[in-house]
Parts: sequence; C-alpha cells; structure tokens
Amino acid sequence: MRQFTRIQEVKDYLKTEIQKGLTIGFVPTMGALHEGHLGLIRRSKLENDITVCSIFVNPIQFNNQEDLAKYPRTFEQDRRMLEEHACDVVFAPEKAEMYPDGEIYLLDIEFGMLDKVMEGKFRPGHFNGVAIVVKKLFDIVKPTRAYFGKKDFQQLAVIKYLVEKLELPVEIISCETIREPDGLAMSSRNTRLTNAERNIAPKIYQILCDVKEKAGTIPVSELKEWGIKKIQENPALRVEYFEIGDKQSLLPAENWKYKNQLVAFIAVFLGEVRLIDNIELFS
Ligand code: AMP
Repeated sequence: MRQFTRIQEVKDYLKTEIQKGLTIGFVPTMGALHEGHLGLIRRSKLENDITVCSIFVNPIQFNNQEDLAKYPRTFEQDRRMLEEHACDVVFAPEKAEMYPDGEIYLLDIEFGMLDKVMEGKFRPGHFNGVAIVVKKLFDIVKPTRAYFGKKDFQQLAVIKYLVEKLELPVEIISCETIREPDGLAMSSRNTRLTNAERNIAPKIYQILCDVKEKAGTIPVSELKEWGIKKIQENPALRVEYFEIGDKQSLLPAENWKYKNQLVAFIAVFLGEVRLIDNIELFS
C-alpha cells in the first residue's frame, strides 16, 4: 500500500494511474477505522482498479472543540487494517497541508434545507465543513466513484447535492450501515462509551426497528411522539432529535403519502457521546 501525506505527491501518483485508464474508488474517512469503513473499502475494491482511502480528522466540520479533541486517532492500527484489506493508497494529510494558513474556506453553494435540519440544526456549520473537505479531496483524488455510508444519511444527501450542483465527474455510491451483532451502528465514537453505556446503546436501533414496524399504522406525528417517549424511557439516553423525513429533501413528513421515501432519523447523547442512526421505513 502506498502512503501519502502531501497533496502534490498523491495527485501526481494518481494522475499517472488515471492516464493509464485505471478507475479510482475513493473512501474518505476520519480514521479510527472499523468494519463500517472496511465495508466501503471492500466495495470499492470490487468496483475499481485502485482504491484510495483518506484519513483526515477535518477540524472545520466540528462545531464542538471538545468533540474534536476527543475524536479517536489510531493511525497505526488504521494503516494495518487498510494493508490487510489490500487498499492501494492511503492519503493522510496534516491539517496544515489541507488548510494552509491564510486560505479562505468558502464554498458558494446554497444547500436549501438540506444543511439546516437535524444535524445541520444541532451542529451549525458542520455540513459546510464536510462539503469543503469533500470537494477538496475530490479535487485531489479525482475519483471515478466515491463511497459513503448510509449511517450518515444526511451527509450522503448533502454530498449528492454538492456533486449534482457542481457537476462533479464522480459517481456517489451509497452503502448500507454496518452494525454490531446487537444492532448498534458501528461508529468510531462507540469506543468512547463506557461498558454500561455500551450495553444501553443497542436500544437506539431497537427503537428504530419498533418505529419501522409501526410506520403507516398511526399518524406520523403520533409515531414521532411515540419514538421520543420510547427513547426517554431510558434515562441514560438524551434525545436531541427524532425525525421522520424524506430521503432526498430531508424535510419532515406530515403523512404517509410518499411512504417509500421516508426515513426515521435519530440523534441521542449517551453520557458524553453523541450517536446518530437512521432506518428506511418501507424498504
Ligand atoms: P467517518 O470516518 O465517520 O467520517 O466515516 C467515513 C465514512 O464511513 C462515511 O461515509 C460514513 O458514513 C461511513 N461509515 C461510518 N460508519 C459506518 C457504518 N457503520 N456503516 C457504513 N458506513 C459507515
């Protein structure tokens, strides 16, 4: 596996590969890799000649500095995992390489409601930071296809919109959420849970599954109230939002008219750790 930390070097290397006519699959990550990330790597390997994984904890997408400071960083282990999965290239730049001093980070795109609801509401500026880094990384890697997890469903919607709006020549591939055997969505943040919290965490997905079972049988507003009540039954879980929304516009649903489009989204705090998950209600 080739390892790069400099933008120009990885660009030069990939340029030669692209000139040979090879396809590039790209998996952007913030490291602390787990099976969720590895699923994306495997898929990319199946569908492309070369797979590139980036590892960069993007400071400008964190609206909470403590969250940024506590974000797990396990580069050596990540590198080994990528090596074992025969990833071809790892690109792990330093902050100064991605954001040299004095550079202005502006992306002139209006995301409508996509970056204003749910994660956008509770993490102001988050998607702007995500969009900037993803655009920068796409410019560097020039992937044929880029792989993102449905675990971060709203992020996926924002990125699809970005690609469409800027007419970027990359295919965005959505991948299913990979879960622990007890249903907990895999996340780098799970390592920050205490044992007691880890035992409670699968409740989040159980509630989403219960909501899915009830979907369509009672009005949307009642189901939302029911979901919130279920979360609150567990005093360790502090709900930030629970929404039922459209999978493209992300706007809250008022009825079941376009039910195949609907997804339930949840964000909760478990102790100090913020966890998100979602479920497609009719697929
Ligand atoms: P992150 O390192 O958390 O920024 O995630 C990098 C990519 O991995 C994003 O596209 C995530 O949606 C995806 N991802 C993270 N966790 C999972 C999971 N449990 N299942 C599928 N994809 C995931």
